[in-house]
Amino acid sequence: MRVAVLTGAGISAESGIPTFRDEGGLWKNLDPKVLATPTAFERNPALVWEWYLQRRSIIAKAKPNAGHLGLVELEQELGENFFLITQNVDGLHQRAGSRRLVELHGNIWKVKCLSCDASYEDYSTESAQLPPRCRECGGLIRPAVVWFGEPLPADALETAYRWAQNCDLFVCIGTSGEVYPAAHLPYVAKEAGAQVVEINPKETKLSPLADLCIREPATKGVQELLKMI
Ligand code: NAD
Ligand code: ZN
Repeated sequence: MRVAVLTGAGISAESGIPTFRDEGGLWKNLDPKVLATPTAFERNPALVWEWYLQRRSIIAKAKPNAGHLGLVELEQELGENFFLITQNVDGLHQRAGSRRLVELHGNIWKVKCLSCDASYEDYSTESAQLPPRCRECGGLIRPAVVWFGEPLPADALETAYRWAQNCDLFVCIGTSGEVYPAAHLPYVAKEAGAQVVEINPKETKLSPLADLCIREPATKGVQELLKMI
């Protein structure tokens, strides 16, 4: 059986990382859906960087939970018949031990320079200078994540679509199904004949599509999934 899994912010919620849409998502009364945009960065890069450094500090202290670890187990069991597609930027899947994955929305621990095109890993959680500057040329750098309205990395997206089209089971975990094109993937899988399972304590836009909804938080829901497979 070929299994593809799509994860969103909800799988990291029990690790203490706030989602954008649930309670605790707001920062200084600002809406993440407005901060995570190219326009916000153009207007006020220092403010957006301050928010990203704050998110990095939270993520640095967080540990992978039973949801992330359960998916590692599944990968080890299924090998080449397993693939993970994540919308998360926190890197917790990799820290848990997942290897067969793509990050559709980039990674919060990477930056790219808007002047010289340098891109490198950056694990700082504070900066003497806001916005921080490129270590190569001193130019303006930005987090290497995909903001609302920006295109996704083509190769990652292509891999994700390929798995959606060629799997027997497509599992959506902790995603609201409101962020496109990621939210399109379960529809593609269903159309191609896969069974769709949702793990989410709340009903989402994807619920009507799902053959089975496990109404549990990810830590418990993934354990149930493991028993089923
Ligand atoms: P989202 O659209 O994926 O929605 C979060 C979903 O998680 C909701 O449906 C909610 O019901 C569900 N959820 C909450 N707690 C859960 C739990 N314990 N177990 C399972 N599901 C749970 O995510 P968003 O927050 O609206 O973010 C939109 C975009 O920003 C996505 O790309 C998202 O991945 C990204 N983001 C990433 C992180 C991260 O990397 N940890 C955090 C926030 C946002
Ligand atoms: Zn540079």
